[in-house]
Amino acid sequence: MKLLTIIGARPQFIKASVVSRAIADQAGLSEVIIHTGQHFDANMSDIFFDQLGIPRPNYQLDIHGGSHGEMTGRMLSEIEQVMIKEKPDRVLVYGDTNSTLAGALAAAKLHIPVAHIEAGLRSFNMRMPEEINRILTDQVSDILFCPTQAAMENLAREGFSDKPVQVLNVGDVMQDSALFFSQRATAPRGFALSDGFVLTTLHRAENTDDPAKLEAIISALNMVHSAVAPVVLPLHPRTRAAIDRTGLTLNVHVIEPVGYLEMIWLLQRCGLVLTDSGGVQKESFFFGKACVTMRDQTEWVELVTVGANELVGADQANIVATVGRRYGQKIEDQHQLYGGGQAAKRIAEYLSSK
Ligand code: UDP
Repeated sequence: MKLLTIIGARPQFIKASVVSRAIADQAGLSEVIIHTGQHFDANMSDIFFDQLGIPRPNYQLDIHGGSHGEMTGRMLSEIEQVMIKEKPDRVLVYGDTNSTLAGALAAAKLHIPVAHIEAGLRSFNMRMPEEINRILTDQVSDILFCPTQAAMENLAREGFSDKPVQVLNVGDVMQDSALFFSQRATAPRGFALSDGFVLTTLHRAENTDDPAKLEAIISALNMVHSAVAPVVLPLHPRTRAAIDRTGLTLNVHVIEPVGYLEMIWLLQRCGLVLTDSGGVQKESFFFGKACVTMRDQTEWVELVTVGANELVGADQANIVATVGRRYGQKIEDQHQLYGGGQAAKRIAEYLSSK
């Protein structure tokens, strides 16, 4: 079976690193990869291919910037051309980015079956571009690889049990990545802080594109840095641009975005994770650290249920108080929430059986 995989953003490279390896190991599967170019900086893209052994993309589309509609439209048109030429048996998409939606839609219109990895996640916030992308992608997929029980329940509630599609809980490929690469963690170059820093990531549009929220968060980070522990912030390019526009001042330890092996090293040594990322919420759990999430909803609800993650929104006082309360807390993974590192293998085996 010939698979056509579409990736384009940082978390998709990390997920593909384990799935593409499982595909290569599985008899009867071959893979062609399109990189849409959605993330293109060396430290947002190339470093992951170099570090994680992801096969070089067969097609590099170089599509980034512009509005959501413009970016998705250009991807749709160029991905369609590749699909017509390559004639894959199935298309594989990951997560919830514009690259995911464009790939799924282009395939569906050409009647090529679509498998969605990370299906069924919901924030129930339709103002998030990611929520729109994931709902529409699920609708045109015929194999829905869910990472959690909650994702399965979301799809059941939306009537997927009555559709002629396959909905499977295979576990989360990001747990596979965390386990696979944890022995290879490396320090970011020149990093000199001792353990116990607050590892922070910040890039959700709902925070970066809302000046009041961004100001509240920046102010909270500055306060945590001076009152709790040094804040280490590998700064996402979107956030850097938003901060430059507003003229806000960050008085924390800002570093360039790091590779995944450096990110794991930081996760292993921090005293707490403060984030608005999807993936990093789970990684803090995988590495036994409490997580404070600067959002009002999460797709990874099970982490809140087991007390590993707390949602604090963009509320300055709440962020500072919760970080202070949770700092240094150890989290034990007593619950098999994410499949135990077998997701990629299960996905490859299932695809080859189709
Ligand atoms: N990540 C990384 N370097 C960084 C920041 C994040 O490798 O400087 C990794 C992180 O460990 C996780 C993934 O990027 O595996 C998460 O991606 P991101 O937060 O950009 O996206 P989201 O998960 O929110 O969609």
